[in-house]
Amino acid sequence: MSTAYRDPQGLRGHFLYLCLGLLLLLLPGQAYEKLSDDTLKALSRPNQDFDIHSGALLSPILQPRVPGTPGHTAVLEHFTTFFRTTLPEWKIEFQNSTSKTPVSGGKDVPFINLIAYRDPPGASMGDVGRLTLVAHYDSKLEPEGFIGAIDSAAPCAMIMHAMRIVDSALDKKWALMKEQEVDFLEEQHGIQVIFLDGEEAFKEWTDTDSLYGARSLAEHWETQMHPAMSTFKTPLSSISLFVLLDLLGARSPNILSYYPTTHWAYQSLGSLEQRLRSLGQLKSSSTEPWFVDTSKDSHQVMTFGGISDDHLPFLARGVEILHLIDFAPFKGFPSVWHTPDDDGEHLDMDTVEDWSVLMTAFAAEWMELEGFLDHMGNVRREEELESEAIRLNKKTEL
Ligand SMILES: [Zn+2]
Repeated sequence: MSTAYRDPQGLRGHFLYLCLGLLLLLLPGQAYEKLSDDTLKALSRPNQDFDIHSGALLSPILQPRVPGTPGHTAVLEHFTTFFRTTLPEWKIEFQNSTSKTPVSGGKDVPFINLIAYRDPPGASMGDVGRLTLVAHYDSKLEPEGFIGAIDSAAPCAMIMHAMRIVDSALDKKWALMKEQEVDFLEEQHGIQVIFLDGEEAFKEWTDTDSLYGARSLAEHWETQMHPAMSTFKTPLSSISLFVLLDLLGARSPNILSYYPTTHWAYQSLGSLEQRLRSLGQLKSSSTEPWFVDTSKDSHQVMTFGGISDDHLPFLARGVEILHLIDFAPFKGFPSVWHTPDDDGEHLDMDTVEDWSVLMTAFAAEWMELEGFLDHMGNVRREEELESEAIRLNKKTEL
């Protein structure tokens, strides 16, 4: 990530965005269903799995993982094992590329993006829009031994925790739909994780020395065509929302809203944060809300053009972006940013855990999982299942 901002948009840009936002509101498409207070209160926390020394999810990522080094391979293997064992219904793909870097002495450095996704049963490739959660997993070459805990080991772990909760709810929802012979045609929403490689600059942040993985994947997906007659032409257009998590894990994050067309999704997160906090479900102490722009209208956001990060090659190709990055004007990024202090010990663990709960809730609302998340000590009562079945059937009758 870089502190270089893109040019501020002029008034014309604002107007265009406003029109696009209105158009988006009028289009049928993504449903979004709020979770009940009871469900929010019952969401699992990662607890010991986020222990920085022995936690199953986070600790294996907290090591230097510069592309082309053994630490990098080990972390990629950790992710692969996670999806293969914990989320066996997910498909995994690797997108490989190579590039010379300013410090590689003319040699090609390999970059490997990991893509994992789960689609509804029987869905054909090209007809499913996917909520896409993204973080980069490479670490910076310098300073030596740099861990990059907020940048972006912790965001990767937050996504992993959220996905395992969402996945088990999807099991239940889709199994029940099958059992009730509910038409899957209206359930064309899948979920996807992208762990990007090569975000960091090797020497100094420039257009060519940064975002190696993101640039390669966006370019590749732009040309990879889905079968003719598909709803979505390319894997890029299958991304219903690209949610990028970066530099998260420090106390009291300040999250701005950068894009008017996705401000509604930003506001949903802001509202979830407030609800979870008022229900006593967030452990971190924060005097200010994290999502500081929640009460703004969509045309009031974007006081500048955004921050350079992995979303840019996707944004340039028309993908809808929600950029979750801890940044405050005049203050900048968290104080540990790109210093040796960005390690496990400097993470604010309550905040890291709270983020994973918040992202679980957001993804569950997006995937409409009310009634399928584990409640009451993981035992779902018969009558609950029954009422869900009625609800699903009603939906298809409409
Ligand atoms: Zn960085």
